[in-house]
Amino acid sequence: MKSLFARMSLLVFAFLASTAIRAEGVEDDAIRRLQDYLRIDTINPPGNESRAVDFFAHALDAEGIPYVRVEPEPGRASLVARLRGADEPALMLLNHSDVVPADARHWDRDPLSGDIGDGNLHGRGALDMKGTGIIQFEVFLALHRDPRPMRRDILFVVVADEEAGGRLGAGYLVRSRRDLISNVGWVLTEGAGGTRTGAVTSFGIEVSQKAPLWLKIVATGTPGHGAAPPAVYSTVRLIRALDKLANWRFKPNVLPIVDQTFKSIAENVAQPKQHQFLDIAHALQDPVFATQLQSEDPLLSGTTQNTCSITRLEGSSKINVIPAEASAELDCRLLPGQKVDDFIHLLEQIFDDHSLRIETIMSANPTSSPIDTELFRSISEVIQERYPDSRLVPTFSNGFTDSRYFRELGIVSYGFEPAIIPAELDDSVHGNNEQIPLISVMQGFHDLLEIVQRVSY
Ligand SMILES: [Zn+2]
Repeated sequence: MKSLFARMSLLVFAFLASTAIRAEGVEDDAIRRLQDYLRIDTINPPGNESRAVDFFAHALDAEGIPYVRVEPEPGRASLVARLRGADEPALMLLNHSDVVPADARHWDRDPLSGDIGDGNLHGRGALDMKGTGIIQFEVFLALHRDPRPMRRDILFVVVADEEAGGRLGAGYLVRSRRDLISNVGWVLTEGAGGTRTGAVTSFGIEVSQKAPLWLKIVATGTPGHGAAPPAVYSTVRLIRALDKLANWRFKPNVLPIVDQTFKSIAENVAQPKQHQFLDIAHALQDPVFATQLQSEDPLLSGTTQNTCSITRLEGSSKINVIPAEASAELDCRLLPGQKVDDFIHLLEQIFDDHSLRIETIMSANPTSSPIDTELFRSISEVIQERYPDSRLVPTFSNGFTDSRYFRELGIVSYGFEPAIIPAELDDSVHGNNEQIPLISVMQGFHDLLEIVQRVSY
């Protein structure tokens, strides 16, 4: 393992020969640290993110860097560390420490192994997003060791609970500990980043995302015995409403940034799709095409419309009892510009059943960040210089990240993970055999360091 790593190191150093490297030895540290981090069980639920905070606190203590630890519930800690610079708005390097569950039966290795194999580091969170957490941390430490005065504060922030909505992590910081994020102007976190497909390298910076609207639909009726069903009862009401929703077509609404995405994809697809992608708003007016797009690429299709997935159902707890109440939970995602109240009103019309109750489990406003910032320009410059043949595009995401908490405060937040990840590893995020190439960890570190140095000195 060691010799493989040494070989990869040499490769990277050759690759970055023109780069001034102030950080010899950091590669070894970064890889070892990431291995240790992947071995810490922060699977959410239940989270146990305080273990991750202990891990970073230990390393910060060793460097003499102060930090604040917050723990809104036992075991669910987050950490904020700040390097002092002059008064320009601060840059926050933001990552989450929790990871989604992993079913070891479908993995080739223990999901908490942190093993190195085939040039990759394996473990749940390698890509989402412990790998970036370590890259950000090594950049933060490199700035701490650099004696030059900085123009702005740099924050390193590890938050809990992102995978379950962030209420106890980023949500807690913006709600209850605004003092810890004072004068923050920019956030860098997950959402997009570097990808390599074959020989083509591209970068995305996520600047806009859909907002989650999680709803519970409750149907009620007279309870009874399964042997004597009335004409209509709770579960039947619920099923009828859900059937209407499942067959409903939400109107497409192609935002300019999404139109750009389709146009850039169009270059690489065959006719007649190329023609359709070049004018996607027009193409989506054909319901046959819209359905085809949704079957072939639900993610891409979701960028063009509001969506609702029916994800949880609950009825009777006994097979021979007709329940007084039946419910379903919906994971709806709204495009920027869509008002929550209007959308709920639309659902009421679709269900067309006044006896149903719609409860809101979680709701947020769709958010965007502008791209005319020094940070965006610096990322573009570094990418352009180091990967002149690559493409960098602002992107729109169906998913939601902790960016939304900061964007709601007017803070610019970009989803940009610097490591270039081979496209074939994409499915391992939240899937099986999650892994990150060692070379990507090192490359990500060097590129992010250069970007952060440009906006700091
Ligand atoms: Zn994530």
